[in-house]
Amino acid sequence: MAQAKAPVLVHRRIARDHCLMRLKSARIASCALPGQFIHLLCGEPTLLRRPFSLLDADPRAGTLDFIYKVVGSGTRALTHLSPGDRVDLLGPLGTPFKMPPDAETAYLIGGGVGIPPLYLLAKRLLDLPPAGSRRVVAFLGARTKDWVICADGFRRLGIPVHVATDDGTSGHRGSVVDLLRRFLPTTRNRGPAPVLYICGPTPMMAAAAALADRRDLPAQVSLEERMGCAMGCCMGCVVEVAAEPAGSHARFQRVCTEGPVFQADEIVWR
Ligand SMILES: Cc1cc2nc3c(=O)[nH]c(=O)nc-3n(C[C@H](O)[C@H](O)[C@H](O)COP(=O)(O)OP(=O)(O)OC[C@H]3O[C@@H](n4cnc5c(N)ncnc54)[C@H](O)[C@@H]3O)c2cc1C
Repeated sequence: MAQAKAPVLVHRRIARDHCLMRLKSARIASCALPGQFIHLLCGEPTLLRRPFSLLDADPRAGTLDFIYKVVGSGTRALTHLSPGDRVDLLGPLGTPFKMPPDAETAYLIGGGVGIPPLYLLAKRLLDLPPAGSRRVVAFLGARTKDWVICADGFRRLGIPVHVATDDGTSGHRGSVVDLLRRFLPTTRNRGPAPVLYICGPTPMMAAAAALADRRDLPAQVSLEERMGCAMGCCMGCVVEVAAEPAGSHARFQRVCTEGPVFQADEIVWR
């Protein structure tokens, strides 16, 4: 983990309320992995850092990309930054996605601002040797078509993209989990089982995790709990995980350090 005062290289609006920012930080870009995040000082009036997943990390160019949705004071402060300004950041933080065993199919299921970390994951999955051995499919959910992000990025990677919107303005009308259900094998005997990678709003992740459990499919989730220090000290981001042994006292883990990526069946969904 490193701290950097990274210059902004690119900052542009990519969808309604969503912006992409590219920062220069060779040190962080050289070791960042899919599912990890950066913790940014967004500027006045927000004093605490804010976490954002990495959309991309290019070790050769030394750049980090992330997408943020403007929801409050921190993300609003970010909108005032221009190329050449510097941002104080910590990263890469957290535990990354685990790569699947050879030749598995990976289904990436993202909702809203949970989609960006799946893009970096897709790139790294496609890069895994032997070349061309992975089948990666993206399922992207959003409330409305103006909030569907990254679909063209996945398509440029050659990945099939299936979109669901709550209001039906793009793709399937309804939840991305309902859309996913149609593509899953009903039993493990029907061809190779896909590995699921899920990131999005908690109810969506809980539904996808339950579906994976019913179909006996391996699934990882990346949680986006609110967090304070992101260094494992403040305990502000703990989530309940399965008791060991089953039935014994409750266990908690920190999203910032043991997570944000967990096996879906580890989490106690409430
Ligand atoms: C590991 C991780 C990765 C993340 N990756 C991204 C990303 O790639 N892009 C992105 O846009 N956002 C991401 N988030 C969420 C992002 O950190 C918050 O949206 C941001 O901190 C909001 O800051 P703010 O000051 O603008 O809003 P605040 O003023 O803090 O909050 C505004 C509103 O948003 C709600 N809110 C704030 N944070 C969260 C959260 N984590 N989950 C649900 N509701 C929240 C608040 O309850 C409030 O209603 C991630 C969060 C985590 C923990």
